[in-house]
Amino acid sequence: MTDDVAVVGAGLTGCLLAYYLARRGHRVDLYERRPDPRTADAERGRSINLAISERGLDALRRVGLEHRVMADALPMRGRMVHPPTGTPVLQPYSADGTRAINSISRGALNNTLLDAATSEAGVTVHFEHRLTELDTGKGALTFATPHDEVHAEARVVFGADGAGSAVRGHMLAQEELDESLDFLDYGYKELTVPPVDGEFALDPGALHIWPRGSAMMIALPNPDRSFTCTLFWPTGGTASFASLSSPAAIERHFRTHYPDLFPLAPTLVDDYLANPVGLLGTVRCTPWQAGGSVCLIGDAAHAIVPFYGQGANCGFEDVVVLDRCLDEADSWQGALELFDARRKVHADTIADMALDNFVEMRDKVASPMFRATKAVEHT
Ligand code: FAD
Repeated sequence: MTDDVAVVGAGLTGCLLAYYLARRGHRVDLYERRPDPRTADAERGRSINLAISERGLDALRRVGLEHRVMADALPMRGRMVHPPTGTPVLQPYSADGTRAINSISRGALNNTLLDAATSEAGVTVHFEHRLTELDTGKGALTFATPHDEVHAEARVVFGADGAGSAVRGHMLAQEELDESLDFLDYGYKELTVPPVDGEFALDPGALHIWPRGSAMMIALPNPDRSFTCTLFWPTGGTASFASLSSPAAIERHFRTHYPDLFPLAPTLVDDYLANPVGLLGTVRCTPWQAGGSVCLIGDAAHAIVPFYGQGANCGFEDVVVLDRCLDEADSWQGALELFDARRKVHADTIADMALDNFVEMRDKVASPMFRATKAVEHT
């Protein structure tokens, strides 16, 4: 099995997948619609950092990437719950306070994985190549580039192109899968807490949460000593993103509901007005592969809501499971069928858990009963 492979999407999953496949001896063409992120600016307001936990670290450790990724990571050993009034309370993730999840810059992580993939002789990356057509039976791909249309062929095509996957769209059009997309009536917006006199404005050893019933804010530390806050809130209705539009109303809202945060976020009103509201949804589809020649992986196969902090971790774990399936099967068809059969049940489970965890983070972490009785393991 040393045929040419095309991986569509050089995000977190696609880069790690290309790296794993190249180490197995495959020639991999990695196609990405964006310019090279190592030379371009990050998209404003798009999940600047994320929490990587043991599932993701395991996938990186197996191919010697854990230390490179963890060099800039900030361990968070518990969640710090900020009530509307009074003192924040730390809820450790483990009884002895040693277990942590890690705040990592999405951009830096993507660049590290891209560097790793491109360091393998078998990997060629094509930036500014947006998949527009896919004939899954023939492995024929068409890309729009800034200059012209580009055609390519591959024995196997992986769709690692995220929640709105074009590969999945073509499989659907060719009646090779069924899909369901469930969007929450919640969105998210990113805000910033900068350093104060060069130091973190909040404890960098914790994931901060402001549970506020129908709204929830979290904040994760960054290596530059800032925090990225993410506000989760309904997209419409009387208490929602849509309900705040003027600078005065925004300021009043945050002073009232996040009184300890507001003084630490001098650009909050500008951030709020400038940053987009991101959508949150769950993608379920089946099967993930067709004819042993095309296969979905990462968010393209199973995008989940971010409340368990497991989307990227799951994409990394997919790569490990696929690698095992390639060890065990003697054909692409066998390996991709095995991957689908083994992995989808786990993806469905974490999708449900992520939805449940929203309710827990939003409402229950602030309850004294919950704090006293529940061992807290995750975000
Ligand atoms: P993506 O990151 O979406 O990458 C897909 C890539 O494909 C992109 O580079 C895109 O440009 C490219 N692409 C798309 N279409 C095409 C096309 N037609 N042609 C070519 N290229 C294309 N996960 C965690 O594990 N921990 C967290 O703490 C966490 N926090 C999150 C917070 C928020 C607010 C959100 C929204 C998500 C969070 N996640 C978290 C989830 C995580 O971001 C995703 O699961 C992860 O990015 C999925 O990686 P991926 O490579 O599969 O897809």
